[in-house]
Amino acid sequence: VPGGGGRRLTPQAPVGAIDFGGTKTSLAVVDAGGGVLRQVVLPTPPRPSPAEVAALFRAAWTDLTAGLPGHLLPRTAGLAAPGPADAAAGVLRRAFDWGWRDVPLAALAAGATGVSVRLENDVNCCALAEMRFGAAAGHPDFAWVQFSTGVGGAVVAGGRLLRGASGLAGEIGHVVLDEGGPPCPCGRRGCVEALCSGPAVARRHAQVGGRGDAAAAFRGAAAGDPRAAALVAAVCRDVGRALAIVGNLLDPGLIVLGGGVTASLRHHLPAIGAEMRSRLLAAPLRSLELRPTALGADAALLGAAALALDAPEPQER
Ligand SMILES: [Zn+2]
Repeated sequence: VPGGGGRRLTPQAPVGAIDFGGTKTSLAVVDAGGGVLRQVVLPTPPRPSPAEVAALFRAAWTDLTAGLPGHLLPRTAGLAAPGPADAAAGVLRRAFDWGWRDVPLAALAAGATGVSVRLENDVNCCALAEMRFGAAAGHPDFAWVQFSTGVGGAVVAGGRLLRGASGLAGEIGHVVLDEGGPPCPCGRRGCVEALCSGPAVARRHAQVGGRGDAAAAFRGAAAGDPRAAALVAAVCRDVGRALAIVGNLLDPGLIVLGGGVTASLRHHLPAIGAEMRSRLLAAPLRSLELRPTALGADAALLGAAALALDAPEPQER
Protein backbone atom coordinates (compact mmCIF):
# COMPACT_ATOMS: atom_id res chain seq x y z
CA VAL A 1 0.00 0.00 0.00
CA PRO A 2 1.62 3.34 -0.98
CA GLY A 3 2.39 5.29 2.16
CA GLY A 4 0.93 2.51 4.25
CA GLY A 5 3.92 2.38 6.56
CA GLY A 6 4.41 -1.33 6.03
CA ARG A 7 1.36 -2.38 8.03
CA ARG A 8 -0.06 -5.55 6.60
CA LEU A 9 -3.59 -6.72 6.99
CA THR A 10 -3.68 -10.43 7.67
CA PRO A 11 -6.86 -12.27 6.85
CA GLN A 12 -8.56 -13.57 9.97
CA ALA A 13 -8.30 -17.34 10.44
CA PRO A 14 -11.44 -19.48 10.30
CA VAL A 15 -13.34 -20.13 13.53
CA GLY A 16 -15.54 -22.88 14.88
CA ALA A 17 -19.30 -22.44 15.20
CA ILE A 18 -21.71 -24.61 17.15
CA ASP A 19 -25.49 -24.25 16.85
CA PHE A 20 -26.76 -26.38 19.71
CA GLY A 21 -30.44 -26.83 18.97
CA GLY A 22 -33.35 -28.71 20.45
CA THR A 23 -33.49 -31.33 17.71
CA LYS A 24 -30.13 -31.05 15.96
CA THR A 25 -26.68 -29.72 16.60
CA SER A 26 -24.62 -28.19 13.77
CA LEU A 27 -20.89 -27.58 13.93
CA ALA A 28 -19.02 -25.70 11.25
CA VAL A 29 -15.73 -24.16 10.30
CA VAL A 30 -16.55 -20.63 9.13
CA ASP A 31 -14.29 -18.05 7.51
CA ALA A 32 -14.23 -14.35 8.33
CA GLY A 33 -16.68 -13.60 5.52
CA GLY A 34 -19.29 -16.02 6.85
CA GLY A 35 -18.45 -18.78 4.39
CA VAL A 36 -19.05 -22.29 5.74
CA LEU A 37 -15.94 -24.33 4.88
CA ARG A 38 -17.06 -27.55 6.47
CA GLN A 39 -20.12 -28.62 8.45
CA VAL A 40 -21.25 -31.57 10.56
CA VAL A 41 -24.87 -32.02 11.69
CA LEU A 42 -25.90 -34.53 14.36
CA PRO A 43 -29.23 -35.13 16.12
CA THR A 44 -29.43 -33.69 19.65
CA PRO A 45 -30.48 -36.50 22.03
CA PRO A 46 -33.93 -36.02 23.59
CA ARG A 47 -33.67 -34.32 27.03
CA PRO A 48 -29.88 -34.61 27.06
CA SER A 49 -27.75 -34.42 30.18
CA PRO A 50 -24.76 -32.04 30.14
CA ALA A 51 -22.47 -35.10 30.00
CA GLU A 52 -24.28 -36.36 26.88
CA VAL A 53 -23.90 -32.94 25.30
CA ALA A 54 -20.17 -32.94 26.07
CA ALA A 55 -19.87 -36.33 24.37
CA LEU A 56 -21.89 -35.04 21.39
CA PHE A 57 -19.67 -31.96 21.02
CA ARG A 58 -16.49 -34.07 21.34
CA ALA A 59 -17.58 -36.55 18.64
CA ALA A 60 -18.86 -33.87 16.27
CA TRP A 61 -15.77 -31.68 16.69
CA THR A 62 -13.52 -34.66 15.94
CA ASP A 63 -15.50 -35.30 12.72
CA LEU A 64 -15.45 -31.63 11.82
CA THR A 65 -11.72 -31.14 12.18
CA ALA A 66 -10.49 -34.54 10.91
CA GLY A 67 -7.90 -34.02 8.19
CA LEU A 68 -8.22 -30.22 8.11
CA PRO A 69 -4.96 -28.50 7.16
CA GLY A 70 -3.42 -26.53 10.02
CA HIS A 71 -4.30 -23.08 8.68
CA LEU A 72 -8.00 -24.01 8.69
CA LEU A 73 -8.06 -25.53 12.18
CA PRO A 74 -10.19 -23.27 14.41
CA ARG A 75 -8.53 -21.94 17.55
CA THR A 76 -11.71 -20.42 18.94
CA ALA A 77 -15.38 -21.23 18.63
CA GLY A 78 -18.74 -19.66 19.33
CA LEU A 79 -21.71 -21.55 20.71
CA ALA A 80 -25.40 -20.71 20.21
CA ALA A 81 -27.61 -22.34 22.85
CA PRO A 82 -31.38 -22.58 23.34
CA GLY A 83 -32.02 -20.54 26.48
CA PRO A 84 -31.09 -17.38 28.34
CA ALA A 85 -27.33 -17.23 28.80
CA ASP A 86 -24.89 -15.36 30.99
CA ALA A 87 -22.52 -14.70 28.11
CA ALA A 88 -19.75 -13.21 30.24
CA ALA A 89 -19.69 -16.24 32.55
CA GLY A 90 -20.29 -18.75 29.76
CA VAL A 91 -23.25 -20.18 31.65
CA LEU A 92 -26.57 -21.30 30.15
CA ARG A 93 -29.02 -20.13 32.80
CA ARG A 94 -31.92 -22.23 31.62
CA ALA A 95 -32.84 -24.71 28.92
CA PHE A 96 -36.56 -24.79 29.50
CA ASP A 97 -37.30 -27.96 27.54
CA TRP A 98 -34.69 -29.97 29.43
CA GLY A 99 -34.98 -28.59 32.95
CA TRP A 100 -31.40 -27.31 32.84
CA ARG A 101 -30.31 -24.57 35.25
CA ASP A 102 -26.96 -22.80 35.32
CA VAL A 103 -24.96 -25.20 33.17
CA PRO A 104 -21.37 -23.96 32.49
CA LEU A 105 -21.79 -24.75 28.82
CA ALA A 106 -18.86 -22.72 27.45
CA ALA A 107 -16.39 -24.55 29.72
CA LEU A 108 -18.03 -27.87 28.86
CA ALA A 109 -17.67 -27.14 25.13
CA ALA A 110 -14.09 -25.94 25.57
CA GLY A 111 -13.25 -29.20 27.32
CA ALA A 112 -14.86 -31.18 24.50
CA THR A 113 -13.22 -29.29 21.63
CA GLY A 114 -9.90 -28.15 23.07
CA VAL A 115 -10.45 -24.54 21.94
CA SER A 116 -11.76 -21.49 23.77
CA VAL A 117 -15.54 -21.14 23.40
CA ARG A 118 -17.85 -18.12 23.76
CA LEU A 119 -21.50 -18.76 24.55
CA GLU A 120 -24.60 -16.75 23.62
CA ASN A 121 -28.34 -17.31 23.44
CA ASP A 122 -29.31 -18.61 19.98
CA VAL A 123 -31.81 -15.83 19.25
CA ASN A 124 -29.17 -13.23 20.12
CA CYS A 125 -26.76 -15.12 17.84
CA CYS A 126 -29.17 -14.71 14.92
CA ALA A 127 -29.11 -10.94 15.43
CA LEU A 128 -25.30 -10.92 15.58
CA ALA A 129 -25.18 -12.89 12.33
CA GLU A 130 -27.55 -10.53 10.50
CA MET A 131 -25.45 -7.58 11.72
CA ARG A 132 -22.15 -9.07 10.56
CA PHE A 133 -23.12 -11.00 7.43
CA GLY A 134 -26.76 -10.41 6.60
CA ALA A 135 -29.75 -8.10 6.33
CA ALA A 136 -28.63 -5.73 9.11
CA ALA A 137 -25.08 -5.13 7.86
CA GLY A 138 -24.31 -1.44 8.42
CA HIS A 139 -27.22 -1.02 10.87
CA PRO A 140 -26.03 -0.37 14.43
CA ASP A 141 -29.65 -0.23 15.63
CA PHE A 142 -32.15 -2.93 14.72
CA ALA A 143 -34.37 -5.63 16.15
CA TRP A 144 -34.54 -9.28 15.16
CA VAL A 145 -37.90 -11.05 15.47
CA GLN A 146 -38.24 -14.71 14.61
CA PHE A 147 -41.42 -16.64 13.91
CA SER A 148 -40.87 -20.39 14.11
CA THR A 149 -41.99 -23.07 16.60
CA GLY A 150 -41.98 -20.17 19.05
CA VAL A 151 -41.62 -16.42 18.65
CA GLY A 152 -38.43 -14.76 19.86
CA GLY A 153 -36.60 -11.52 19.51
CA ALA A 154 -33.32 -9.74 20.08
CA VAL A 155 -32.23 -6.11 20.06
CA VAL A 156 -29.01 -4.51 18.84
CA ALA A 157 -28.47 -0.93 20.03
CA GLY A 158 -25.42 1.08 19.08
CA GLY A 159 -23.88 -2.02 17.48
CA ARG A 160 -24.14 -4.08 20.67
CA LEU A 161 -26.58 -6.71 21.82
CA LEU A 162 -29.02 -5.50 24.43
CA ARG A 163 -29.05 -8.49 26.78
CA GLY A 164 -31.09 -7.23 29.71
CA ALA A 165 -30.66 -8.17 33.36
CA SER A 166 -31.35 -11.85 32.76
CA GLY A 167 -30.49 -12.30 29.09
CA LEU A 168 -34.06 -12.02 27.83
CA ALA A 169 -34.28 -8.48 26.45
CA GLY A 170 -36.24 -8.25 23.22
CA GLU A 171 -38.32 -11.40 23.74
CA ILE A 172 -41.56 -10.25 22.12
CA GLY A 173 -43.11 -13.75 22.04
CA HIS A 174 -45.05 -13.53 25.29
CA VAL A 175 -46.33 -10.01 25.00
CA VAL A 176 -50.12 -10.37 25.09
CA LEU A 177 -52.01 -9.12 22.02
CA ASP A 178 -55.43 -10.52 22.95
CA GLU A 179 -56.39 -11.31 26.55
CA GLY A 180 -59.17 -13.61 25.31
CA GLY A 181 -57.02 -15.23 22.63
CA PRO A 182 -55.85 -18.81 22.28
CA PRO A 183 -53.85 -20.45 25.08
CA CYS A 184 -50.07 -20.11 24.92
CA PRO A 185 -47.44 -22.69 25.98
CA CYS A 186 -46.45 -20.16 28.70
CA GLY A 187 -49.84 -20.54 30.41
CA ARG A 188 -51.33 -17.18 29.43
CA ARG A 189 -53.65 -16.41 26.53
CA GLY A 190 -53.26 -14.44 23.35
CA CYS A 191 -49.48 -13.97 23.41
CA VAL A 192 -47.78 -13.14 20.10
CA GLU A 193 -46.52 -16.73 20.13
CA ALA A 194 -50.04 -18.10 20.64
CA LEU A 195 -51.19 -16.24 17.52
CA CYS A 196 -48.22 -16.10 15.15
CA SER A 197 -45.88 -19.06 15.73
CA GLY A 198 -45.87 -21.87 13.16
CA PRO A 199 -47.98 -24.21 15.34
CA ALA A 200 -50.35 -21.31 16.18
CA VAL A 201 -50.93 -20.52 12.51
CA ALA A 202 -51.56 -24.21 11.79
CA ARG A 203 -54.06 -24.35 14.68
CA ARG A 204 -55.87 -21.23 13.50
CA HIS A 205 -55.99 -22.72 10.00
CA ALA A 206 -57.46 -25.97 11.36
CA GLN A 207 -60.17 -23.96 13.15
CA VAL A 208 -61.43 -22.71 9.79
CA GLY A 209 -61.34 -26.18 8.25
CA GLY A 210 -57.79 -26.12 6.88
CA ARG A 211 -55.21 -28.89 7.13
CA GLY A 212 -51.46 -29.09 7.43
CA ASP A 213 -48.78 -26.79 8.79
CA ALA A 214 -48.43 -23.01 8.66
CA ALA A 215 -46.91 -23.14 5.18
CA ALA A 216 -50.02 -25.02 3.97
CA ALA A 217 -52.21 -22.16 5.20
CA PHE A 218 -50.11 -19.65 3.25
CA ARG A 219 -50.18 -21.89 0.17
CA GLY A 220 -53.96 -22.15 0.46
CA ALA A 221 -54.25 -18.37 0.60
CA ALA A 222 -52.00 -17.98 -2.43
CA ALA A 223 -54.12 -20.53 -4.30
CA GLY A 224 -57.26 -18.49 -3.66
CA ASP A 225 -58.89 -20.39 -0.77
CA PRO A 226 -60.94 -17.60 0.83
CA ARG A 227 -60.85 -19.03 4.37
CA ALA A 228 -57.07 -19.45 4.21
CA ALA A 229 -56.74 -15.96 2.74
CA ALA A 230 -58.80 -14.47 5.59
CA LEU A 231 -56.69 -16.35 8.11
CA VAL A 232 -53.41 -15.20 6.55
CA ALA A 233 -54.68 -11.62 6.55
CA ALA A 234 -55.47 -11.95 10.26
CA VAL A 235 -52.05 -13.45 10.99
CA CYS A 236 -50.35 -10.62 9.09
CA ARG A 237 -52.31 -8.06 11.13
CA ASP A 238 -51.20 -9.78 14.34
CA VAL A 239 -47.58 -9.85 13.16
CA GLY A 240 -47.85 -6.15 12.28
CA ARG A 241 -49.29 -5.35 15.73
CA ALA A 242 -46.44 -7.23 17.41
CA LEU A 243 -43.83 -5.42 15.32
CA ALA A 244 -45.46 -2.07 16.13
CA ILE A 245 -44.88 -2.76 19.83
CA VAL A 246 -41.20 -3.35 19.06
CA GLY A 247 -41.10 -0.18 16.95
CA ASN A 248 -42.83 2.04 19.50
CA LEU A 249 -40.70 0.78 22.38
CA LEU A 250 -37.26 0.67 20.77
CA ASP A 251 -37.25 2.86 17.63
CA PRO A 252 -34.97 0.30 15.96
CA GLY A 253 -34.99 1.75 12.42
CA LEU A 254 -34.94 -1.78 11.01
CA ILE A 255 -36.61 -5.04 11.98
CA VAL A 256 -35.22 -8.23 10.47
CA LEU A 257 -37.68 -11.12 10.38
CA GLY A 258 -36.41 -14.68 10.71
CA GLY A 259 -37.55 -18.18 11.60
CA GLY A 260 -39.27 -20.79 9.46
CA VAL A 261 -42.59 -18.94 9.16
CA THR A 262 -40.73 -16.01 7.60
CA ALA A 263 -40.34 -18.04 4.41
CA SER A 264 -44.11 -17.47 4.07
CA LEU A 265 -44.41 -14.08 5.78
CA ARG A 266 -41.85 -12.51 3.44
CA HIS A 267 -44.44 -12.53 0.65
CA HIS A 268 -46.75 -10.43 2.84
CA LEU A 269 -44.36 -7.70 3.99
CA PRO A 270 -46.42 -4.86 2.43
CA ALA A 271 -49.52 -5.86 4.44
CA ILE A 272 -47.51 -6.48 7.61
CA GLY A 273 -45.69 -3.17 7.19
CA ALA A 274 -48.93 -1.25 6.59
CA GLU A 275 -50.47 -2.66 9.78
CA MET A 276 -47.29 -1.91 11.72
CA ARG A 277 -46.95 1.66 10.44
CA SER A 278 -50.60 2.42 11.19
CA ARG A 279 -49.77 1.73 14.84
CA LEU A 280 -46.43 3.53 15.11
CA LEU A 281 -47.12 6.56 17.24
CA ALA A 282 -44.63 9.21 16.18
CA ALA A 283 -44.21 10.17 12.53
CA PRO A 284 -40.40 9.61 12.49
CA LEU A 285 -40.93 6.01 13.62
CA ARG A 286 -42.89 5.25 10.46
CA SER A 287 -39.73 5.02 8.38
CA LEU A 288 -39.11 1.74 10.25
CA GLU A 289 -38.00 -0.79 7.66
CA LEU A 290 -38.83 -4.51 7.52
CA ARG A 291 -36.54 -7.05 5.90
CA PRO A 292 -36.56 -10.84 5.83
CA THR A 293 -33.48 -12.69 7.05
CA ALA A 294 -30.62 -12.92 4.56
CA LEU A 295 -29.27 -16.03 6.28
CA GLY A 296 -32.31 -18.28 6.74
CA ALA A 297 -31.78 -21.39 8.82
CA ASP A 298 -28.03 -20.69 9.12
CA ALA A 299 -28.49 -17.51 11.18
CA ALA A 300 -27.78 -19.02 14.61
CA LEU A 301 -24.78 -20.99 13.32
CA LEU A 302 -23.28 -17.91 11.64
CA GLY A 303 -23.98 -15.89 14.79
CA ALA A 304 -21.94 -18.42 16.76
CA ALA A 305 -19.15 -17.83 14.24
CA ALA A 306 -19.54 -14.06 14.70
CA LEU A 307 -19.05 -14.50 18.45
CA ALA A 308 -15.75 -16.27 17.83
CA LEU A 309 -14.64 -13.79 15.17
CA ASP A 310 -15.20 -10.98 17.68
CA ALA A 311 -13.27 -12.79 20.41
CA PRO A 312 -9.71 -11.76 21.21
CA GLU A 313 -7.17 -13.94 19.39
CA PRO A 314 -5.86 -16.67 21.67
CA GLN A 315 -2.19 -16.14 22.58
CA GLU A 316 0.44 -18.36 20.98
CA ARG A 317 2.00 -20.69 23.48
ZN1 LIG B 1 -47.10 -16.85 26.04
